Amino acid sequence: MSPKAYPAKASSQVLGVSKTATPPEIKKAYRKLARKYHPDANKGNASSEERFKEISEAHSILSDEKRRKEYDEARSLFGGGLRSPGGGGAPGGFGFDLGDLFGGSGTGTNTGTGGRLGDLLGGVFGAQRPTAQTRPRRGADVETETSLTFGDAIDGVTVSLRLAGEGPCPTCKGTGAKAGTVPRVCPNCQGTGQESKNLGSFAFSEPCHECRGRGLVVDDPCPVCSGSGRAMSTRTIQARIPAGVADGQRIKLKGKGVPGERGGPAGDLYVRVHVTPHPVFGRSGHNLTVNVPVTFPEATLGAEVKVPAHRGAPVSVRIPAGTPNGRTFRVRGKGVRRTDGTNGDLLVTVQVQVPQQLSAKAREALESFREATAAEDPRDELLQRAKGA
Ligand SMILES: [Zn+2]
Ligand SMILES: [Zn+2]
Repeated sequence: MSPKAYPAKASSQVLGVSKTATPPEIKKAYRKLARKYHPDANKGNASSEERFKEISEAHSILSDEKRRKEYDEARSLFGGGLRSPGGGGAPGGFGFDLGDLFGGSGTGTNTGTGGRLGDLLGGVFGAQRPTAQTRPRRGADVETETSLTFGDAIDGVTVSLRLAGEGPCPTCKGTGAKAGTVPRVCPNCQGTGQESKNLGSFAFSEPCHECRGRGLVVDDPCPVCSGSGRAMSTRTIQARIPAGVADGQRIKLKGKGVPGERGGPAGDLYVRVHVTPHPVFGRSGHNLTVNVPVTFPEATLGAEVKVPAHRGAPVSVRIPAGTPNGRTFRVRGKGVRRTDGTNGDLLVTVQVQVPQQLSAKAREALESFREATAAEDPRDELLQRAKGA
């Protein structure tokens, strides 16, 4: 059933006439609007059709003295829009039974175009209106978290998640009644969950105070759930974590939350992902990062160096001559797979190593390198600039 709001506008507003309009004035205004919004003149236009219904309803109220008075009184009681009880309007408030208000006793003020308001609303809010006990209910959303290895976060993985949540009590199967007993139909509301209150010529319905709208009463409550019929339970589900998730990311798994009741849809599951760091690789979005040591001669003279790739053989990276420490090179396509099937890159950052121990031969070579470059002072420019300022 779709939430249907009763026209919030006064009938006189709908027809664009004053509250004290005379019957001929009402008729004239109605005819003009009805011609404009008639479905025959607005084929396939849903909003015109809605408007036409509204106009017809308004006319049908205003052209009946008795109903016009009742409607005005009801409006002044409730302020503006009257909403259907189960339709998502009036949260927690008592329902307002429009069928009782307008239906039944009507003498058939059939306008020939719109039908009687009681019939119209009766079809929407009528006797078969689902009660709280029969209406499908969407399951709740659930939040949980999981830890993934670095590789699983990159590749995607199916994990088992243990979820705790409220569901039907397993002891009484949700009835709330002690083993061996059954709940009985509430004698106060005969199981409808609603009770009527009469206020003058209006009838209102509100949740039954005996059964709190459940329609059933329990004489011997289930000791596990104290008669509520609900209990905390755990269940294990298999959830597919998509490839490429990052540490701290919250992913939504549609329909993996608490199952719905009475055919309602399941809620959604939100999983906060924690990714354990990798000893070698880091992540920067869909790029992988890696620090690679190079020797001073490699950085100075240039070299082809092997660098590790995640999942797969090492890749060769060409380090050009004169590469400074900390420079980053990009290896295309060796990063994390994106949802569109393309891959991020591997970002290789070189770290020029300073030898901690030298063989005699290496020391000798370095000594001659120092001699050969004795004329160059790398701090010359720095000292100059410091003086200049
Ligand atoms: Zn129970
Ligand atoms: Zn009841």
